[in-house]
Amino acid sequence: MTLRFLGAAGTVTGSKFLLNTGPSSWLVDCGLFQGLKAMREKNWSGLEFDVADLTGVLLTHAHIDHSGYIPVLAKSGYRGPVYATDATVDLCKILLPDSGYLQEKDADFANRHGFSRHSPAEPLYTRKDAVDALKLFRSISFAKQTTLETGLTARFLPAGHILGASIIELGLPNKQRIVFSGDLGRLQSDTMLSPTLIDHADYLIIESTYGDRKHQHVDIEVELAAVICETAARGGTIIVPAFAVGRTQSLLHHIEKLKRRGAIPDLPIFLDSPMAINASELFCKHLDAHRLSDRECRDACGIATYVRTTEDSKALTTNRVPKIIISASGMATGGRVVHHIKNFASDPRNAILFTGFQAAGTRGRSIVDGAISVKIHGQNVPIRASVHNIDALSAHADADEILAWLRNFRAPPRRTFIVHGEPNASAALQARLSTELGWNCVIPSLGEEVSLT
Ligand SMILES: [Zn+2]
Repeated sequence: MTLRFLGAAGTVTGSKFLLNTGPSSWLVDCGLFQGLKAMREKNWSGLEFDVADLTGVLLTHAHIDHSGYIPVLAKSGYRGPVYATDATVDLCKILLPDSGYLQEKDADFANRHGFSRHSPAEPLYTRKDAVDALKLFRSISFAKQTTLETGLTARFLPAGHILGASIIELGLPNKQRIVFSGDLGRLQSDTMLSPTLIDHADYLIIESTYGDRKHQHVDIEVELAAVICETAARGGTIIVPAFAVGRTQSLLHHIEKLKRRGAIPDLPIFLDSPMAINASELFCKHLDAHRLSDRECRDACGIATYVRTTEDSKALTTNRVPKIIISASGMATGGRVVHHIKNFASDPRNAILFTGFQAAGTRGRSIVDGAISVKIHGQNVPIRASVHNIDALSAHADADEILAWLRNFRAPPRRTFIVHGEPNASAALQARLSTELGWNCVIPSLGEEVSLT
């Protein structure tokens, strides 16, 4: 039995782990590489295996760095199943076609500006390819044991993180157990479920996004109220680059509570992201996949004015009344929030409020790191607005929380592989696992294959 690390090894994106059991071959996650150009180019290097040999795909959650390469598989002739939880399947119906649309837009942009290596530039996949790929998806309920084939079982256990996110536990014919952590959520979140505690694995593949960091132990609502009140007092607008799935809904929930108890001024709130609007509706549909009640869900979604059209989004810029604009993408790499930053960042009365991890190479990371200006649409935009990052809103467990989750194992796994982290983060987690738990862990490199026997 072998495991190949085809993505999220030495980096946080492109999650792809190919497990070959002998009779069959399974891909756990099938994500896009994102972020820096050198990373994104890896999406073009072709598949490292023959799709005809692939038995199935097991998807931990809907984020594009875990799911966004599935349309490429389908386009390459893969017709097998993609197993995921109900909520993940629903989210993929929103996220994958959008990803295809963005690929088409990028190719179109490259053609118009003539900077593609390929002439004409082709999208990695189209919106239609993504819609076609959705036909391969099969829903699996949380915690239910499913037999994938003789002797091979899978359980999808809640991981917190985002709606539908799972830890995948595989039971092998030789009775051994492999656990893929997927992306682990916060141990205690007001909105999301806690990651399921696991006490045994023979082989463990653990994420390390925040392996070198601790979230600030702050009261999210106190922090949020401070930013909102200060900015409103200056007559400014608060721009919130938010991840459409999960973070937006948590934010709306906290802002609704603050508003209800009169802790913040009664500013208009706009949710300016069609994807976040659709994801919010799914939040209200999948009540078993998070902690909010039906009432809390509807209250949270009810405080914002939904901005669906581009015209209405542009109108927010011309109207200078103090307000809160929540818009995607969360790292300000694209989407409508980029236009809002371009229009609001140079005025010191305004605020930009980030809500979580900002990957290297993103505009969000530059702003959080204190850049005095950022380039948007070829123009240098000075950053004079106040900049905040409430990373307690993050959907990822921090290093202490990952350690706490691992402490629940009764014995060290035979082998532990640290993935899904920038090199410093993975190395820091490896060091802590060694000194604090006495575990000997490996950080696999991209493309490495290990034998699990
Ligand atoms: Zn994720």
